[in-house]
Amino acid sequence: MTSLTDKVARVHEALRVWNGAVSARPAVVKRCHDAAEVSEAVRYARATGLPLSVFDGGHDWTGRAIRPGGLVIDLRGMRAVTVDGNIATVAGGATATDVLAAAAHSGLSAATGTAGSIGMAGLTLGGAMVR
Ligand SMILES: Cc1cc2nc3c(=O)[nH]c(=O)nc-3n(C[C@H](O)[C@H](O)[C@H](O)COP(=O)(O)OP(=O)(O)OC[C@H]3O[C@@H](n4cnc5c(N)ncnc54)[C@H](O)[C@@H]3O)c2cc1C
Repeated sequence: MTSLTDKVARVHEALRVWNGAVSARPAVVKRCHDAAEVSEAVRYARATGLPLSVFDGGHDWTGRAIRPGGLVIDLRGMRAVTVDGNIATVAGGATATDVLAAAAHSGLSAATGTAGSIGMAGLTLGGAMVR
């Protein structure tokens, strides 16, 4: 039988950020698969007063995707990318590789970072050298 300690350890392992020196631990993790689940998580954070953060690609150097003692909204289950003309609609958990792959289907490319596993939202929102 799997103990609670094992389960918690597995959650922490699954939430590892790129910078292995970051040791922040959340209180709660919500893995979201659609916008309704994200809304539910935000409402839960408001109701309980838990600070929240969003986990996309986990490449932020300081580990800001994990709010210590807070609620982490894990978007890695939301990676859909659709391309219409030269406009891409990118789900909150899509990586740079997801965007490049979808763009390539339409004979297009996209400006991303050097690592394909970087979250496209995290990069675009300015957590990077793109500021
Ligand atoms: C190996 C490596 C190579 C890199 N190369 C480049 C590069 O070539 N060019 C460049 O510009 N940058 C580069 N970076 C920096 C990187 O783009 C930033 O650290 C970026 O913020 C990482 O985004 P993420 O989604 O992977 O990280 P995360 O840690 O998941 O998120 C970063 C921040 O954005 C927030 N966030 C993420 N997704 C959302 C969302 N959907 N809604 C709201 N908030 C969100 C998180 O809460 C966190 O505060 C590199 C980083 C690494 C580690």
